[in-house]
Amino acid sequence: CGIVGIVGRDAVAGQVIEALRRLEYRGYDSAGIATLEHGRLERRRAEGKLSNLQLKLLQSPLSGAIGIGHTRWATHGRPNETNAHPHATARLAVVHNGIIENFRELKQELEAAGARFETETDTEVVAQLVSHLMDGGLGPVAAVEAALPRLRGAFALGFLFSGEADFLIGARHGAPLAIGFGQGETYLGSDALALAPFTDEITYLDEGDWAILTRDGAEIRDIANQVVNRPRQKIVSQA
Ligand code: GLU
Repeated sequence: CGIVGIVGRDAVAGQVIEALRRLEYRGYDSAGIATLEHGRLERRRAEGKLSNLQLKLLQSPLSGAIGIGHTRWATHGRPNETNAHPHATARLAVVHNGIIENFRELKQELEAAGARFETETDTEVVAQLVSHLMDGGLGPVAAVEAALPRLRGAFALGFLFSGEADFLIGARHGAPLAIGFGQGETYLGSDALALAPFTDEITYLDEGDWAILTRDGAEIRDIANQVVNRPRQKIVSQA
């Protein structure tokens, strides 16, 4: 239901939670976060309130300077910890707003190719599909580029890759997604309000856009994979 991503300078977990708080108004049944800890993907997820996730982070902190977070409003699969986002394989973690309409056929195809699914969600096919394409030799960016045209439905996505501490990928396909620009930090969020504590400089992705976020900014590509310029706006903060 709500997506957050931060390519930051220091530990980002606190900021990810702060941004997720600002997406609480949309409603949610569970929440989760993934960061890179010395290049390794680590996740914390919890059913219920964000405070449950915060408790888990207190018991077992994350210190990575790059991460993604999610508040989930379940559409496919019960609202429990296993089905909470981020969903992950050894290669990547993904957060997702919306619905992947053709997840059943993709799941069948990926299972036939040897993938083993852990959750009841539609989202997990995205993680497994990109992972499968990387197994076939594609790098993270090429794998997302190849995966996006195969997904049907209205959704927004955020990706974090194992061993890749310098970039995140976001994609917009029927659900809004914003990029925020900070001082040596770049942010991804379902709306500008989520990013208001960090920056007032925002670019909204256009329909079909996807973007590679680094600490220096973002490279945005359109649905035909051409690099495009999207205007930056000054958002007047309600904070
Ligand atoms: N369809 C996904 C799920 O049920 C994402 C729902 C959402 O937007 O939170 O896990």
